[in-house]
Amino acid sequence: MPEIKVSGVVPESITDGPGIRFALFVQGCAHNCPGCHNPGTHDYNGGEWKNTDEYLAAIKADPMISGVTLSGGEPFDQAEGLLPFAREVKALGLELAAYSGYLYEELLADEGKKALLEACDVLIDGPFIREQRNLDIRFKGSENQRIIDVPESFRKGKVVLKEDGRWTPSEIEIKIP
Ligand code: SF4
Repeated sequence: MPEIKVSGVVPESITDGPGIRFALFVQGCAHNCPGCHNPGTHDYNGGEWKNTDEYLAAIKADPMISGVTLSGGEPFDQAEGLLPFAREVKALGLELAAYSGYLYEELLADEGKKALLEACDVLIDGPFIREQRNLDIRFKGSENQRIIDVPESFRKGKVVLKEDGRWTPSEIEIKIP
């Protein structure tokens, strides 16, 4: 497996998507969204080079994990390095989600980024916009971001939002304290 630049991992995250997920935070991001909650991941010189084999081993050893989330940092700036890991995750039958400051349409325009996108089940796209911040919505930082059903979007040739209630609970569910 190629090495990737990593900021850190949360082996059993309950905040980076539905269920218990292995969350991998890559190092390096050039989007510079004002108000970013994770500024320590921006510097491409920070973090550590890691081989993703150890993460795969941890994922395989944990029966609680139902999905993997790529976050950061900007995962798609390391698309080539992450692609073999992403394919292995899919081969395990786990749901693969990714956060990106790029829009879905921008990822399609770059062959390397598109290849990683094709391996994903879910994409949460777009920059964090402080003025559109909303703490009442799960799994998104700001209203502008979209939770995208990636396979369905490829099938239909246009962005299809995830309708699965695991990712997009109803308004009533959201308001329950
Ligand atoms: S894309 Fe994400 S990590 Fe990068 S600056 Fe924006 S909010 Fe922060």
